[in-house]
Amino acid sequence: MNLLDLCATGFVVGDGAMGTELQRAGLAIGECGDRWNLEQPGRILAIHEAYIAAGSQAIITNSFGSNRRVLGRYGLADRVVAINRAAAIAARRAAGDAVCVLGDIGPCGGFIRPLGDVDPGELEAEFIAQAGALLEGGADGIIIETMSALDELRLAIRAARTAKAPLVVASMAFDRVPNGNIRTMMGVSPEQAVRAILDEGAHIVGANCGTHMTAADFERVTAAFRLTTDRPIMIQSNAGSPELVDGRAVYRMSPEGFADGMEGVRAAGASIVGGCCGTTPAHIAALARQMKAGA
Ligand SMILES: [Zn+2]
Repeated sequence: MNLLDLCATGFVVGDGAMGTELQRAGLAIGECGDRWNLEQPGRILAIHEAYIAAGSQAIITNSFGSNRRVLGRYGLADRVVAINRAAAIAARRAAGDAVCVLGDIGPCGGFIRPLGDVDPGELEAEFIAQAGALLEGGADGIIIETMSALDELRLAIRAARTAKAPLVVASMAFDRVPNGNIRTMMGVSPEQAVRAILDEGAHIVGANCGTHMTAADFERVTAAFRLTTDRPIMIQSNAGSPELVDGRAVYRMSPEGFADGMEGVRAAGASIVGGCCGTTPAHIAALARQMKAGA
């Protein structure tokens, strides 16, 4: 299923959160959710199936932290290929031919030189390995998401393209800062983000997650992207801002409240809308109903 063709024919419903769904399925705090691709593939499959049943037309693999550095914290640095392949296989199995599978690449968890100690050449090779394994497992394309640094975003897009991803989505996590501006944690504006994403040759421009971001803030980001590009825009919002309950982030926005907010995002020009942290199959079902009604 070609996501760009889907976008050309109309609005596309994405999926919701993976991390908070893994917790609902029993993942303990501090446990590695990406390890479940190997050890609990049935539970990963069930989450994907629930999103597809709710109306998702594009789903994202359970591989957000499946890069060598993050897996290394759990003693899994040598399992990068196996974990990413398994993630893509589970998503492909749920998706069949009717739903698009995006292989997920998240941040490496450190900063690239000179700001930090991550070697850019090494990191690029690690992202190429991750993207390659996701594509080999059956992903239709790669989504690079929740990025806050431009250098890491650019490098990850290049890596996905080097791995011959037929489709690359690049999505940054913006926050609303106290003066009302919208910037990533590393100070990147939506305008800077979209220029870098286009410059590196990604096909779809996105924003996801973020802190203190309301639906109106995502509308502003979408509008800023739209001023610069005609490419499809993908927005994945959290289910509101979390409350900390017993050491765990709890998201309380209702499925209907979430779907209502995303209506404005679509009106501002987003072609693909899904959810990030705290969204569930119920949120995606509400979104799918609302988008059908508004179409
Ligand atoms: Zn999120």
